[in-house]
Amino acid sequence: MKPDAVLRGLVGEILARFERVGLTIIGLKLVKPTLEHAQAHYPVTDVQLSQMGNKTLSTYASLGLDPKREFGTEDSVAIGRMIHKWNSEFLSSGPVVACVLEGVHAVKKVRALAGKTMPIDAAPGTIRGDFSSISPAVSNLLKAPVHNLVHASDNENDPDEPQKEISHWFQAEELVQYVPVSNHASIKFDR
Ligand code: ADP
Repeated sequence: MKPDAVLRGLVGEILARFERVGLTIIGLKLVKPTLEHAQAHYPVTDVQLSQMGNKTLSTYASLGLDPKREFGTEDSVAIGRMIHKWNSEFLSSGPVVACVLEGVHAVKKVRALAGKTMPIDAAPGTIRGDFSSISPAVSNLLKAPVHNLVHASDNENDPDEPQKEISHWFQAEELVQYVPVSNHASIKFDR
């Protein structure tokens, strides 16, 4: 959970949504990351910056916005680099809640619960859709990242991303393995 979620007092509400679908919390802590820690959390290769830049270019196209006016460039890597800076500064403004969730297709499920990156596009019922309606057009005027409450590991471009992010935020001994109660339930067939 990013600083906007913590400052708005939405930690319990957001965690409850993950628990409600049967995901198990195996790591959890409140931290104020350093700028260096936040910078290292967000990917920095040109390919990754370009992916973020391209995603932004397509959002801008769909909103009828001119990326050159907002960012001073149409270059996807340069746009990605600007967003990386804003993201790192925002995340390190802290506090954030780091959380490791375990469960069936947990990465996919958490991203579905989070909703689309841009709160204006995120469906009602999702975390981003229910608690924000911010648009990149407004955020970029303020030279800020889109405040969309949560980060959620992805595994589409890099299958190892979730594991890398877990190691970035947690020591192995901070993760607690246990069998959740629902897994103990035995199905009884009376007939
Ligand atoms: P997601 O968080 O859904 O995986 P990305 O990895 O594409 O999305 O982007 C990382 C974060 O960067 C987003 O959650 C959002 O806070 C911020 N961001 C992305 N695009 C923009 C943009 N055009 N303007 C401001 N912030 C952005």
